[in-house]
Amino acid sequence: MDSYIESVYNKVVEKDPHQKVFHQAVLEVLESLEPAVKKYPKYKEFSILERITEPERIIQFRIPWKDRDNKIQVNRGFRIQFNSAIGPYKGGLRLHPTVTQGVLKFLGFEQVFKNSLTTLPMGGGKGGSDFDPKGKTDAEVENFCTSFMLELYRHIGQFIDIPAGDIGVGAREIGYLYGAYRKATNVHGTCVLTGKGPTYGGSLIRPEATGYGTVYFVEEMLKTKGEDLKGKTAVVSGSGNVAQFATEKCIDLGAKVIALSDSSGWIHDPDGIDREKLAWVMDLKNVRRGRIKEYAEHFKVDYTAGGSPWELKCDIALPSATQNEVDANEAKALVDNGVLAVGEGANMPCVPKAVEIFLEGKVLYGPGKAANAGGVSVSGLEMAQNSQRYFWTREEVDKRLHGIMVAIHENAYKTSEKFGAKGNYVLGANIAGFLKVADAMIIQGFYA
Ligand code: NDP
Repeated sequence: MDSYIESVYNKVVEKDPHQKVFHQAVLEVLESLEPAVKKYPKYKEFSILERITEPERIIQFRIPWKDRDNKIQVNRGFRIQFNSAIGPYKGGLRLHPTVTQGVLKFLGFEQVFKNSLTTLPMGGGKGGSDFDPKGKTDAEVENFCTSFMLELYRHIGQFIDIPAGDIGVGAREIGYLYGAYRKATNVHGTCVLTGKGPTYGGSLIRPEATGYGTVYFVEEMLKTKGEDLKGKTAVVSGSGNVAQFATEKCIDLGAKVIALSDSSGWIHDPDGIDREKLAWVMDLKNVRRGRIKEYAEHFKVDYTAGGSPWELKCDIALPSATQNEVDANEAKALVDNGVLAVGEGANMPCVPKAVEIFLEGKVLYGPGKAANAGGVSVSGLEMAQNSQRYFWTREEVDKRLHGIMVAIHENAYKTSEKFGAKGNYVLGANIAGFLKVADAMIIQGFYA
């Protein structure tokens, strides 16, 4: 590694030695930026790497809420406002017991580059809490979300920071958060959150966008090899928002999805998950809030407790659950079983060694920053519609989403070619995302 890059990385580690997952995200980006930093000395001259790895602002707060027994519980809330050089901070809120400042810094950091790639003017941010919505009543979730927003509202706004959903934050939570924002501020009709319901300013296709976009990106990667999705077998991990709509788009484009998972285990349905079965999964996960094991019981297929479905033979792998869910052995199994393409629906789902194995194995590997950027892209389109006080049709939004995913693919591909690593989307996406933000930071002066 270049000595300048190494010294920046070492400082990041020294400053927050416990934030391992943030270090992992920073290292992956810094390593791939080496050719750009060598080619353009201005980035070192203006200390861009030191600045881009340090969040502009971190907000941490207490979230008291009352549970079903009327007992006061306390969780910890965060908003990481990472970089606003190219637009207001934008990024989801995660509600999961594993949430820490380090996890949100990793996600906020990735978001900076991802948002830059979308072609839309959005900076990067991320937030959330260690609250676990699993097993909570609707009233408890409402109570928590209201308390969360009673602090967060003063830090966000349509020109400041626009949160959205992520793990544990779907339509129900965004509804409660938006209601609390409106109550606290008496402001309506501006875009302060995305992923809103269609009855109060949400964009059509926003729920579908991350999953659809990931599959559109995979389709573009396959095209570079003269392939498409028709007749291909796909394995998807997770069974939440991203996994559900990635599965739907696979079905639309003629691929057969044979697996889904949740944090308890995974199902294998060799006949494929058709539209009817997928509708059943959506009801299970979004309405009844059940476990994927029930799919196996209902449709009489195999269920494996724990682990992930990567041992299955497939052409396409779409990790869509959480970070570091594909380890080196699993990556090797996928390569040995002839996987053609991996599209990351989740953020950083593959450990660094797994990524190395995919690249060495000449697998088409679409990193999350590029492959799952469809969600935030349609969030950007939701903001555009809200500004116009207007709604676009499903077809219009889907067409724009598709166009953005094609553009992201082309940008990442061409950038990889320009920097001597044709087809390496990690390098291409990281450099393409970086250049726009870094140049905006230089132009705006070092205080900004
Ligand atoms: P959801 O909460 O809707 O679903 C998450 C899914 O992943 C669930 O099936 C969940 O299972 C599983 N999961 C969560 N944590 C773990 C874990 N530690 N181990 C195994 N499985 C786990 O979240 P989303 O679908 O929205 O998000 C999934 C991924 O996609 C995340 O990495 C997110 O950051 C990323 N992403 C999401 C976007 C969006 O628009 N929603 C945009 C871009 C990226 P269980 O129910 O058992 O917890």
